[in-house]
Amino acid sequence: MDPNSPSGIYRCNKCGNEETHIEGKNFAPCSRCGKNSWRIVRKTH
Ligand SMILES: [Zn+2]
Repeated sequence: MDPNSPSGIYRCNKCGNEETHIEGKNFAPCSRCGKNSWRIVRKTH
């Protein structure tokens, strides 16, 4: 996942867990299933 993806709430593509991403920070693996594949739910500011 690109660390420069916009800040927002992201949902895990595998298990549906939602976590916050801050633009410029590396994506952490999902805390529930360990996969690192996310899609954005909504942007935050
Ligand atoms: Zn997950």
